[in-house]
Amino acid sequence: VAEAHLARIDAVDEKVHAFLHVDREGALTAARAVDDKRAKGETLGPLAGVPLALKDVFTTRGIPTTVGSKILEGWIPPYDATLTRRLKEAGVVILGKTNMDEFAMGSSTENSAYGPTGNPWDLTRIPGGSGGGSSAALASYQAPLAIGTDTGGSIRQPAAVTGTVGVKPTYGAVSRYGLVAFSSSLDQGGPCARTVLDAALLHEVIAGHDALDSTSIDAPVPAVVEAAKLGNVKGMRIGVVKEFSGEGYQPGVEQRFREAVELLRELGAEVVEISCPSFTYALPAYYLIAPSEASSNLARFDAMRYGLRVGDDATHSAEEVTALTRAAGFGPEVKRRIMLGTYALSSGYYDAYYGQAQKVRTLITQDFARAFDQVDVLVSPTTPTTAFPIGERADDPMAMYLADLCTIPSNLAGNAAMSLPCGLAPEDGLPVGLQIIAPTMADDRLYRVGSAVE
Ligand code: GLN
Repeated sequence: VAEAHLARIDAVDEKVHAFLHVDREGALTAARAVDDKRAKGETLGPLAGVPLALKDVFTTRGIPTTVGSKILEGWIPPYDATLTRRLKEAGVVILGKTNMDEFAMGSSTENSAYGPTGNPWDLTRIPGGSGGGSSAALASYQAPLAIGTDTGGSIRQPAAVTGTVGVKPTYGAVSRYGLVAFSSSLDQGGPCARTVLDAALLHEVIAGHDALDSTSIDAPVPAVVEAAKLGNVKGMRIGVVKEFSGEGYQPGVEQRFREAVELLRELGAEVVEISCPSFTYALPAYYLIAPSEASSNLARFDAMRYGLRVGDDATHSAEEVTALTRAAGFGPEVKRRIMLGTYALSSGYYDAYYGQAQKVRTLITQDFARAFDQVDVLVSPTTPTTAFPIGERADDPMAMYLADLCTIPSNLAGNAAMSLPCGLAPEDGLPVGLQIIAPTMADDRLYRVGSAVE
């Protein structure tokens, strides 16, 4: 199986560019180790020997980890992320590291310092972002499983536009140890796959308490595999988010979404409309909070600790080396966020921007709490539009940010959400994503509803 996927990578990835690094040797060694265990009659987990594409934001011991940035070019991590370690322990075969927007900042993978990834449905279109490499690897059959991270939608939006499944687990469910930080209060690793059950099997491998992450949840992982096998929604109450429709939404996306809601009703769910008025302010709040945290997190790339180093130690001061390295190593979107975040956190502006955004965050959490008093899950389109052409929004950050409209509230509140395919938009024949949103630590509901409508 590993050999077949490596051959598939050789055949198609020159065109797709899903991978930044293919670890042929490591993959074959891991696969042989599983074979040996099987030959000895050892009990193996359900994912032993299954190949996986890993987003290049998780550290892998001895294997380059760039986070899509030039600033980490040449850095070889001396340790595995907890997620990487868990995958290896489960016998999962890591094929390589996938392309992503630099530091996970973006919705199209165009912000990668290593060039864009194509959407396998149409290579001239974006595969979503920031985890476009992982979703493109799934959609082009280069890997049956992948890992992403979701800070504002980077698992769900790529899943939506590539016709695959992506889950952002409850914040704290999957360890962030060894996940290169973008916005620590929002970042969450999660499973990507082509089916809901595959995602559930992967979810079970990567989730669980980790003493190395202070925000890791110390509670049993919800029974996601059982839920994915249930496949029925009889008697469930499902809320349609009123705010996520209308202006800016592609007609074909709304049409497929309405059909999915109709199907849920036919399958025995009770569907009601739910208003979450503060969701309208989620996007501006996110684009203050995430850059603020990023401006602090990215201070560690000072040319002394990791990767790239520009300047001459004999003639440049330490400060100059840091400045030259950051000027050369960070791309325009990363610089934009560092400046925005530094500004929002600076004295005199903190209360006006960062403080206000934190208040909005509380309002969004309260909207979710009210909604989940009335319904078991919420549903919406995952993104307002299907995959847009590469280059179309590259010079317009505001247009790019709109791709995250429906995904961001769950990051701000920390609850769980999934995107899964719900057909193709009639006007362009491209995949549409259905988003399912569940309360904190009720991740199993995503899989129950997802497997019913899949
Ligand atoms: N597109 C969002 C951003 O640019 C989300 C990114 C993410 O989830 N990592 O910040």
